[in-house]
Amino acid sequence: GATRAGASGRGAKAAGSSKSNTGVRASTAGKKGPGSGKSGKADSVNGDAEDGKSRRGQYEGPDSDLAAMLERDVLDSTPGVTWDDVAGLTEAKRLLEEAVVLPLWMPEYFQGIRRPWKGILMFGPPGTGKTLLAKAVATECGTTFFNVSSATLASKWRGESERMVRCLFDLARAYAPSTIFIDEIDSLCNARGASGEHESSRRVKSELLVQVDGVSNTSTNEDGSRKIVMVLAATNFPWDIDEALRRRLEKRIYIPLPNSESRKELIRINLRTVEVSSDVDMDEIARRTEGYSGDDLTNVCRDASLNGMRRKIAGKTRDEIKSMSKDDISKDPVAMCDFEEAISKVQPSVSAADIERHEKWFSEFGSA
Ligand code: ADP
Repeated sequence: GATRAGASGRGAKAAGSSKSNTGVRASTAGKKGPGSGKSGKADSVNGDAEDGKSRRGQYEGPDSDLAAMLERDVLDSTPGVTWDDVAGLTEAKRLLEEAVVLPLWMPEYFQGIRRPWKGILMFGPPGTGKTLLAKAVATECGTTFFNVSSATLASKWRGESERMVRCLFDLARAYAPSTIFIDEIDSLCNARGASGEHESSRRVKSELLVQVDGVSNTSTNEDGSRKIVMVLAATNFPWDIDEALRRRLEKRIYIPLPNSESRKELIRINLRTVEVSSDVDMDEIARRTEGYSGDDLTNVCRDASLNGMRRKIAGKTRDEIKSMSKDDISKDPVAMCDFEEAISKVQPSVSAADIERHEKWFSEFGSA
């Protein structure tokens, strides 16, 4: 259906935006202690580069060529997203803090019956902030972050994806403590197209099951501390995940559409960089965007904030536009009428049936 097409489109976008051709992006950030939630983005960027460089090459396991390729990507991207950049989702943030962030900060407490969950699944309609949350977790944890798109993993590395999964987990252990984020994990379970693809995705999946099981093994660093590797996954189609994988993803967190309060927060976050007219009524916008996802709202804000320029250049020739001053173009703050126009243009992308399906899955398999 349409939603499915949207999801694979996003996969393609993720692959396209990645500098790597491996489908894996990773970053290391300087280790931070509790309470450093508002860490500066610039810090983490510098931390990444230096830390990444100094730790690069520390992996000495098998498949060193593949590992080197993955390691090269360690320097490629930095999530640089904090909890404050994610609107609403208070409950999801709390659950993630408890399930991922705290076990990494105090591994000695999370042992025995308190052992961390093997894997954590974030599920919900597309564009609700799952990827954003994973990035925020990485920043909060201040650990090595491996950002894996399953769609890319399954397609680009056909035949070798299995080796890639193994190598990824070896690397994550070498760089421990680490978080591995697997986006669109459902695409690893799907039989698509040719039978060869099916067979290879089946093998990737079994390798993933073995590796996720292995994560809870208590291997230790030289100083005796445990090598913690957290597995965080996301999907827009939780019902496509088969039982074997679902059992490994022990904690399953629902990421719903934003409520009215979160929609207001989202709009505020989106408009941080532009001037807003005093006639903009956030309550009214929030009321009129019921059913919009975070991504839809971002599109509304983007569209609204471009409207002033559209008015300015309407009816002008190319030469006239070129000779206009930037100040003149950006003079008008974003006004309520711009939002009205944008809302009428941008329709909500998630259907009521999709929400219902998620809620049903949540009541059956979700963690509260
Ligand atoms: P998902 O992974 O759930 O499909 P993303 O995390 O990729 O969605 O979100 C897509 C975009 O939508 C983000 O880049 C951001 O601009 C916006 N967005 C969605 N949810 C939120 C949120 N809760 N807070 C802030 N921005 C959001």
